[in-house]
Amino acid sequence: MATRETGSVPELPEVETVRRQLAPHVEGRAIAAVTIDDPRWCAPDAPAATAAALRGRTVRALERRGKHLIWRTDAGTLLLHLRMTGVLLVDPEPDAPYRRVEIAFDDGPTVWFCDPRRFGTGRWFADPGAADAHLDARLGPEPLSDAFTGDALRAALRGRRAPVKSLLLDQRVVAGVGNIYADEALFLARVHPLRAGGAVTPAACRALVDAIRTVLLAGIDAGGATIDDFRHVDGVTGGFQDDFLVHRRAGEPCPTCATPVARRVVGQRATYSCDRCQTPPRGAPAPLEGGRRAGPILRG
Ligand SMILES: [Zn+2]
Repeated sequence: MATRETGSVPELPEVETVRRQLAPHVEGRAIAAVTIDDPRWCAPDAPAATAAALRGRTVRALERRGKHLIWRTDAGTLLLHLRMTGVLLVDPEPDAPYRRVEIAFDDGPTVWFCDPRRFGTGRWFADPGAADAHLDARLGPEPLSDAFTGDALRAALRGRRAPVKSLLLDQRVVAGVGNIYADEALFLARVHPLRAGGAVTPAACRALVDAIRTVLLAGIDAGGATIDDFRHVDGVTGGFQDDFLVHRRAGEPCPTCATPVARRVVGQRATYSCDRCQTPPRGAPAPLEGGRRAGPILRG
């Protein structure tokens, strides 16, 4: 059964892949000209004001926080978010579709932000401290930093009745995790996605922190995952989709125990688990697909 899921957004590994590829092209270079074709990109600020603010600035560093790309310049900071379908292309083909923004560098490349669905954003902060405050107000710990510990995750989940899967997608609980990497991490940690956040034990929180780091680093190593639109800055697709353990594998055998991978909808997101390796909570609804062995159940 085809289950095209909309809303597979670039997550931390995809944004980090873009950052690593783009940084050598833009760091240390001055912005010669900016063309903003879509006022939605920088709303509520006006395109002309945002373009004027960026012109002449030198990019000091390209950083990442969660799924945000942080362009630190010699005066001011641009926060860029790819959202669902945004891509950044270096010296693209002239007929590359859905151009929303063009940034041309002195003695350097031309970078296009292309975005068919137009949810991507670019927000200029003349005060760099205001940009950091904007992010800190919206984002929990960076999962690859020392701040993200089992205790920190346990504190964020304590008392929460929502499914742990939904809570992992809340950027205030942990920054940068989305639908793909949440499913993969829950599988590795053997925590069922429907378990209430507050019912995840301290030991399981520690396992989940380790698993989140493992899947994010594997995703970065693979250059991110491409399901719909994600592209590298040269237009090439990522490869992590070939390494998914359970995500988008409904009905296929669990890599650990061969039980067919189950699919449910949790918080409006397609969610994949092995209901043998990840014990469902009492009262969990039956999966929409998979979840049961086709043949006789082997005990052991
Ligand atoms: Zn299994």
